[in-house]
Amino acid sequence: TSPIHSKAPQKPIDFTKVDINLLPTVMIIGRPNVGKSALFNRLIRRREALVFNTPDDHVTRDIREGLAKLGDLRFKVLDSAGLETEATSGSILSRTASMTANVLARTQFAIFLIDVRSGLHPLDQEVGKWLRRNAPGINPIVAMNKSESLHNDTNSFAEAAIEAQILGFGEPIAISAETGLGVTALYEALRPMLVDYMVKVLDDNGGEDENSDQNSDSCKVDESKLPLQLAIVGRPNVGKSTLLNTLLQEDRVLVGPEAGLTRDSVRAEFQYQGRTVYLVDTAGWLQRADRQKGPASLSVMQSRRNLMRAHVVALVLNAEEIAQASRSMTHAEVVIARRALEEGRGLVVIVNKMDLLKGKRNSAIYKKVKEAVPHEIQMVIPQVTGIPVVFISALEGRGRAAVMHQVIDTYEKWCLRLSTARLNRWLRKVMSRHSWKDNSAQTKIKYLTQVKARPPTFVAFVSGKAQLSDTYIRFLTKSLKEDFDLGGIPIRIMQRVVP
Ligand code: GDP
Ligand code: GDP
Repeated sequence: TSPIHSKAPQKPIDFTKVDINLLPTVMIIGRPNVGKSALFNRLIRRREALVFNTPDDHVTRDIREGLAKLGDLRFKVLDSAGLETEATSGSILSRTASMTANVLARTQFAIFLIDVRSGLHPLDQEVGKWLRRNAPGINPIVAMNKSESLHNDTNSFAEAAIEAQILGFGEPIAISAETGLGVTALYEALRPMLVDYMVKVLDDNGGEDENSDQNSDSCKVDESKLPLQLAIVGRPNVGKSTLLNTLLQEDRVLVGPEAGLTRDSVRAEFQYQGRTVYLVDTAGWLQRADRQKGPASLSVMQSRRNLMRAHVVALVLNAEEIAQASRSMTHAEVVIARRALEEGRGLVVIVNKMDLLKGKRNSAIYKKVKEAVPHEIQMVIPQVTGIPVVFISALEGRGRAAVMHQVIDTYEKWCLRLSTARLNRWLRKVMSRHSWKDNSAQTKIKYLTQVKARPPTFVAFVSGKAQLSDTYIRFLTKSLKEDFDLGGIPIRIMQRVVP
C-alpha cells in the first residue's frame, strides 16, 4: 500500500513548532556510493550536522545526524554511511552491533537508496535483508537515485522501477540527490507517515487525558526514552572540560573532531543509569576556550541556538572566584542563566573547585560560598525559584553522581505533565487556602490546564472582563512550583479570557 493513502491526520501539524527532540528520525540507507551523503546534504542544506564519532573504528565514516527541512516537514535525518566499514569492503552496514542498535533505536523511518543507473545490485538485496532483520518495523521508501541521468527515458524508468520491487518494499520513487529532481515525490511519500507519527506523539504528550491521573505526572514513556540533552556552560577556566571527563568516565562514546573534516558541532554521549545523555555543543567551548580565554567565548556559549538544543543547562561556576569576589555570579553568568530559563530550559548550577576551599572548611569563607550561592541566585533570578545548586570538585573526579542526580531530576520535572483533573483539584485547594482576591475585580479562574510539557506550560481560563494581574499569576506560578516541587524549571502560565 502506498504511504500516500494512509489515513488523514485529525489535526494539522506545524512541524516548525514541534520540539526538535520529538521530531521523527528518518535514516538514509543503501549500499556505498548510491548517494546517501548527497541526499543527506540536500535535506539538511546548510544546517549543521551533528556527528556521532565512535573511537572504536577509525576507518569508518561518522554517522551524521541533521535537522531536515522538506517543504513544511521537519525531521531528523541520519546518514547511515557511517555504519559501513571500508575495512570489510563489499560488506555493508557492519558497524559494531551496539552502534547499529543505537542508530536503529532512534530511527522510525527509512529512505532506501538505490542507484538507478546500475540496476539492482546484490548489495542492495543485502541492505534489504539487513533492514528486515534489524528493523522489521521499518518499511522504507525506496528511492531510485541519480534519476536525472536517465534523461526522461521512460522505458528505462519503468524497467528500473519494476526491478526495484524485487526488494519487496513496494513501488520506488525516482529522485536525484544532486539536482533535486523528485524531491516532491519524496515529500509526498514521507508526509503522511510523518504526520501520522507526529499526531501520535503529540497526542501522547499533549493529549488532555482528563480522566487518567495515572502516568500523568511524569515523563511519558516516549519522552523519557528520548536521550537527555545536556549543555554545560560557563566562563573559560571554571572546569567544564574537567567536568566533561568526569561525566564521560569509561562510558565515553565519542568526542573530538577529526582532522580534515569540517564540523560545526561534536557531540559527546554517555550512559547514566540506563539513560542516554548527550552533551550538546561541547566542541564550541572546547575549541574556543582553548584558543581564546576571554569574554569573546562567552557569546558563543550563550548563543540561543545552543541553549535551544539542550533540555537541561548546567552552568558551572568557580568556587574559588566566588570566595574572593563579593558576589556569586558575574554579570555574564547571570545573563546565561536567565537566557537558559527564558528559552525554557531546565537549569542546574554547579559550583566547581570546592576542593580549593577545603583547608578552609568550617571557615567563614567555606560557609559563605555554600550558603551565599543559592541565596544570591534567588536574588538575581527571582522568576524561577529553587534552582538546584551542586557543589563539586571535578578535578578530584567527584561529583558525577551529584551532578547527574540533579540533572535527571530537573529533566523529569521539565517533562512533568499534570492532568487537568489533578490541576483543578489543586487549584480549588489553593483558592480555599488563600483568601487572595485578585485586584482586577471579578476576574476568577474557571479552570487550569496544562497545554504542554518540556517545560510545563499552563493555560488559565478566566472569566470576567479583565485578565488576572501579574501579581496573581506570579502567586499561582509560585504555588504550582512549591506544591509540585518544580525548582529550577521555568514553568509558564498563560491566560485566556472566556465569557
Ligand atoms: P554514499 O556512499 O551512498 O554516501 O554516496 P555519495 O553521496 O558519497 O555519492 C556517491 C557518488 O554518487 C558521488 O560521486 C556523488 O556525486 C554521486 N551522486 C550522488 N547523488 C547523485 C545523483 O543524484 N546523480 C548523479 N549523477 N550522481 C550522484
Ligand atoms: P574550562 O575552560 O571551563 O573547560 O576549564 P578546564 O576544565 O580546562 O579547567 C581549567 C583549570 O581548572 C584546569 O587547570 C583544571 O585542572 C582546573 N580545575 C578544573 N576543575 C577543578 C577542580 O575541581 N578543582 C581544582 N582545584 N581545579 C580544577
